[in-house]
Amino acid sequence: MKKKKLGEELLSKQGKPFSVPLAVCDDEVTAFCNGYMSFLNRAKTEREASKEAVSILSERGFQCFDPEKAYRPGDRVYWLNHKKSVIAAVIGTKPFEEGFLITAAHVDSPRLDVKPKPLYEETNLAFLKTHYYGGIKKYQWTAIPLAIHGTVVLKDGREITVCIGEDTTDPVFYITDLLPHLARKAQGSKTMGEIISGEQLNIILGSLPYAGEEKDAVKINMLRILNERYGMIEDDFISAELEVVPAYRARYIGLDRSFIGAYGQDDRVCGYTALMALAEMESPSKTCVVVLADKEEIGSVGNTGLCSDMLKNFISLLCAPRQVAPERVYLCSKCLSADVNAAYDPNFPEVYERRNAAYLNCGPTLSKYTGSGGKGGSNDASAEYLGELRRAFDEGKIPWQIGELGKVDEGGGGTVARYVSSLGIETIDIGVGLLSMHSPYELSSCYDVYALYSAISCFFSKL
Ligand code: MN
Ligand code: MN
Repeated sequence: MKKKKLGEELLSKQGKPFSVPLAVCDDEVTAFCNGYMSFLNRAKTEREASKEAVSILSERGFQCFDPEKAYRPGDRVYWLNHKKSVIAAVIGTKPFEEGFLITAAHVDSPRLDVKPKPLYEETNLAFLKTHYYGGIKKYQWTAIPLAIHGTVVLKDGREITVCIGEDTTDPVFYITDLLPHLARKAQGSKTMGEIISGEQLNIILGSLPYAGEEKDAVKINMLRILNERYGMIEDDFISAELEVVPAYRARYIGLDRSFIGAYGQDDRVCGYTALMALAEMESPSKTCVVVLADKEEIGSVGNTGLCSDMLKNFISLLCAPRQVAPERVYLCSKCLSADVNAAYDPNFPEVYERRNAAYLNCGPTLSKYTGSGGKGGSNDASAEYLGELRRAFDEGKIPWQIGELGKVDEGGGGTVARYVSSLGIETIDIGVGLLSMHSPYELSSCYDVYALYSAISCFFSKL
């Protein structure tokens, strides 16, 4: 009998890039990714993502949450929070005191927000001023096609939905960059953050003047078009949320179509996969919850971000008719903080620590901790919880990997994990590794997207 090699028993089977069976030709993976890409095309803002989520949930039998009602096992509910975040749940057969299984992702993405007094004219060109939202490399937003999405509340209270630049017959918008011929001094010696400044992120809106007007004739013409189309006047920008996003559609990338390129995959990739995993839960033993939060990119602030009591309130209201203290639920609940990670990029090996990096096509990445400068701002999951998850994933044959964001002193970042765990809930970070994260066109692997969906399904059914 051949003796088993000692290495086979003892050595880690972690982080084996490119050794996984690539399932990208698999019809199931393709069908799932097609659904994901069409979601990305319809959901480029937190409002649109929340609306799409509600429509996906409604189609699958979820009802609008009614705090008066005592929900029973198998019931499916969703709560739309101020139109920008969503919490959905499938009620389990076990008592609430045994805890909930929560997956929390975010549906806001870095973008440019139109300022409250945005419109001006200079040398017969009309512009909109913007204020960027979240961590962007400003220079990446110049010289690309842009779309404007959002809501305007008119003085009379009417709410107008704006979406220009997504239909193939729509015009798109644009921010200029300097030609290389003249950039030697103006940009050549500047740092990344200075090449394009925040106040240079001005959207070119148009150039044709309104006949007969002497001053600001182009600006007036722009206002005329907006007024004819939306009934708005200049002051209505004050009560508006207009978000400028890349006008790109999601596309397959690569000769083998193994990647997805799209804007806003951070973190709608986790939002969509979590939503689909929840939607197929019929009668789970523990109550399963998906949180699609807003404002993560600027610190989870506001009444739609996870620093608020939105999750706490939802759990309290769900518990009230059963007379269960929500604290009892937190004590035994478990959470996947589902957010993207940085996949190893061979073009920039200097910022990654190869032995602890996440790799494309190796499944979703579990991160024990995030943070920066010595785990600052991190959640740091317990060994016990990691132990439980790795057993569940391995039993469920889910490909997964452990990974850190980059080299220890290189930078870092946080997620919503710390806000969920502050309730006492066991929480760990998990997510798909991206290339070019926070850029106008981010890259994910089809296989990883599908594997994350499988991992969340496994979490909901096995923990
Ligand atoms: Mn994120
Ligand atoms: Mn982000």
